[in-house]
Amino acid sequence: MMTVLWRNLRSLGTRGWDAFVAVLAIVLIAAQCVGSLKSGMGCIGRVEPKRRMGIRQTNPQSAEDRRVIDTFLGLSGAVGIEADGMRSAFILDECPIVRYVGDGVFLFSEGLKRADDSALAALIAHELGHLELGHLEGRAMRDFGVELGISLVADLAKVEMDDEGEKQAIGWVNEITLGSFLLQQELEADLYGVAILEAAGYEERAGRITIETLTWLDGVAEEHAAGPLVPHGFRRERRAVLERAGD
Ligand SMILES: [Zn+2]
Repeated sequence: MMTVLWRNLRSLGTRGWDAFVAVLAIVLIAAQCVGSLKSGMGCIGRVEPKRRMGIRQTNPQSAEDRRVIDTFLGLSGAVGIEADGMRSAFILDECPIVRYVGDGVFLFSEGLKRADDSALAALIAHELGHLELGHLEGRAMRDFGVELGISLVADLAKVEMDDEGEKQAIGWVNEITLGSFLLQQELEADLYGVAILEAAGYEERAGRITIETLTWLDGVAEEHAAGPLVPHGFRRERRAVLERAGD
């Protein structure tokens, strides 16, 4: 199955960036209120929710947060991804998303409570794919629009950003607010995600679960079209590749 997937992947090529969405009414300051993924503790800063979206610490006492974290640890453990030192936080938004934003930081959203266990696993596995494939680093500097986004966010938040903060903010702005994704990278992350799901015990259901999750995300994307968060794009193309691979 993997060989078929890779072949399909290559034949599609890279379509380039999705349209750059220059809407940045979001204030999420990097590296704040992000706790250790394993314990859910260890907030290293604090950000008051501003404007349209806020962020909170992962709460290990919450059954819903635990479901997300345990799924994350189960999947990463199944393929030997070291979770020690990784951190997480939750975005206060009802759009269900998982985002790797670099530097070992994963963001989840409140909306993940709407994802059943399979969809949650598929979302996390896909994002682990982005992590393992080093996609964030490749994306970060690709679009000059990202620079604009950073200054805008910094301005809204009235903070001064040092180099490190700016570097991280590039990741945040890029990942969270722009909604710009490379088809090639999405397909690679899907492929990697399917492999992770297979290794984690989903076996031959892994491809099907991934396809079903993409279909579910179509409805999510419609519902949140005007919101600050959107699911990763190219869902139709990605589904087609996965369908063909499953034949
Ligand atoms: Zn993705």
